[in-house]
Amino acid sequence: MEAPTTDSPVTSPLNAGDGLDAAALVAGLRTYFRSGTTADLNWRRQQLGQLRRMILDNESRFLQALEKDLHKAPQEGFLTEVAGVCGDIDHALKHLKKWVRPRRASTPIVAQPGKSYILPEPLGVVLIIGAWNYPLQLLLSPLVPAIAAGNCAVLKPSELAPATSKLVAELLPRYLDNDAFACVEGAVPETTALLEQRWDHILYTGGGQVGKIVMTAAARHLTPVTLELGGKSPCIVADDANIEVAARRIAWGKFTNAGQTCIAPDYLLCTRATAERLLPEIEKVVREMFGADPRTSSDYGRIVNRRHAERVAAYIADGEVFFGGEVDVENRYVAPTLLRNVGLETAVMQEEIFGPVLPVIELDEFSQAEQFVNERDKPLALYVFTQNEATADRILARCSSGNACINDCMMFMAAHDLPFGGVGPSGIGAYHGEHGFRTFSHYKAVMKRSNIFDLDLRYAPFSARKFKLLRLLR
Ligand code: NAD
Repeated sequence: MEAPTTDSPVTSPLNAGDGLDAAALVAGLRTYFRSGTTADLNWRRQQLGQLRRMILDNESRFLQALEKDLHKAPQEGFLTEVAGVCGDIDHALKHLKKWVRPRRASTPIVAQPGKSYILPEPLGVVLIIGAWNYPLQLLLSPLVPAIAAGNCAVLKPSELAPATSKLVAELLPRYLDNDAFACVEGAVPETTALLEQRWDHILYTGGGQVGKIVMTAAARHLTPVTLELGGKSPCIVADDANIEVAARRIAWGKFTNAGQTCIAPDYLLCTRATAERLLPEIEKVVREMFGADPRTSSDYGRIVNRRHAERVAAYIADGEVFFGGEVDVENRYVAPTLLRNVGLETAVMQEEIFGPVLPVIELDEFSQAEQFVNERDKPLALYVFTQNEATADRILARCSSGNACINDCMMFMAAHDLPFGGVGPSGIGAYHGEHGFRTFSHYKAVMKRSNIFDLDLRYAPFSARKFKLLRLLR
């Protein structure tokens, strides 16, 4: 498909939730998938190139949309959304040839002469449901491996980030093959209509409650799912941590996008002595980043909507404010806030915070950290700040989490070769790089036999001689 030459909107019957005929949409995509077009490697490369073009041609519009939806500073939007997706595309284009290659497997004597291999094949028509906090990246990053693996796809952006949703719905049909891809805007009714259809895979990003709805709907068709969920990601700071570096990286991980990041550190775990050194340092860093009044900083985000602003603001009463605590619900502002003396039964320690409120759990002994983590749901991310490798390795070995980072927060996202996904309640499956390609592929086991020679051991009539030989060859 050629790139568009004008700015005139392309009207596609597939790019709007209005009057959505989900069954017809999927049927059309399936027919196209069966034509074999999407399996062609050149087509995949061309579509990936077009996706990159779509983003780069319209970069400033995307950054504006992100600013509108979440008050995301353009530089932050570029780093965490635009650059992330473009990096995924470049990585896929670089490695696609290797990913699609059949992998050789051994062939047993009883199947000789013959050869065995694993052949990646596209799944078919997939559904990608995005969340609002990184509305561009969480929608397009899964699309990259879906295209790379040779699938057709429907994208369902989050209605809670309407400017980004609208822009993707407008641009996608202008750049990508309309017979293979569609964007359906909308909320619960549209998502429900989509979920009633039979898909070959569903990748959903969002909260666990809706994750259950998605998985239940998928089960009706035995459709496999990837669920990218959330949870409370602990951030453990050991007594020997480099406090200055830890404070900067924790503040960045927690307060980027006003804390609305699925892998943001949810709470801090450290000894009382370490808290005395760490907390003033985090406060200092927050001032350096966003000034004395973060409300006036163009670099500090806003909560996505009033309902979430009220929810996050309510957590502040669950502890003693060390710094921050200012709230302006009307303007969806919640200051970067650090809480001490937080009860473990309070909402801030029971629910995923998903906002700029950071409770600190102060331990008598550092050794209690491990048990604290293991008594709770397996988190999406686990952070450990320590200069002692044995401490880090011990926690890594004892505490399960979807992803982990030693001496930093969230940076594993930058490594294309690392799978990104949760474990237990924080998610099912993973993507990014080749792991995403695997998610959207079926690895078909193939054996090719020769007609030259046909060992008769498996055929009746059986005999003592055949049995003896069979025992020798098995
Ligand atoms: P959301 O409200 O944007 O919902 C996600 C998607 O589900 C949207 O497209 C929405 O339309 C759809 N949806 C909502 N209600 C539905 C229903 N009843 N039936 C069918 N579909 C429905 O996002 P959210 O759930 O508020 O996202 C926040 C959560 O997502 C947090 O828990 C966060 O940790 C998690 N998250 C995870 C990742 C990850 O990659 N693991 C990334 C971002 C967010």
